[in-house]
Amino acid sequence: MTSFSSWTPIAIWAPAKAVSGIGPYLGVRRSNTPQFFYAMVMNRTDEEWKRQLDPQQYKVLRGKATEPAFTGKLLHNKEKGVYVCAGCGTELFSSDAKYDSGSGWPSFWTALAKDKITEIPDHTLGMERIEIKCKNCGGHLGHLFDDGPQPTGMRYCVNSLSLGFKKKDTK
Ligand code: FE
Repeated sequence: MTSFSSWTPIAIWAPAKAVSGIGPYLGVRRSNTPQFFYAMVMNRTDEEWKRQLDPQQYKVLRGKATEPAFTGKLLHNKEKGVYVCAGCGTELFSSDAKYDSGSGWPSFWTALAKDKITEIPDHTLGMERIEIKCKNCGGHLGHLFDDGPQPTGMRYCVNSLSLGFKKKDTK
């Protein structure tokens, strides 16, 4: 998995093949946030995503598929740490907010930060749902429901395939 989330570029030149539709090179003058990499990730072509992700992850993250319930590797993960986007490495959920919803998918009652996730009305399959995506790379995560536990009452229902896990360093 490629992670750009911890980079703090000052002056970096990157090959434009990572940035579709923008000249041969894209110059970044100064940034104390990884916005340049955000732009780079968001502009990744479908071919590039296909190369980066394994086929199952690609279907979920880029094709909005849903993994079969109770199959996800992280469903029963009880370790302390941070759940990241499997597409771009952005930290999305804390193990502190993970709970067993009984749904068959990893569930969280809150995200690490609301601005890391895009909420989009989803009318497919004859249902009114809210799709959740990684704001950084646009990867499909799952859906947001209002039947979660307190204090939020929300359930971020996330495909295990959309997530990576960074175990908390307890040393
Ligand atoms: Fe992402």
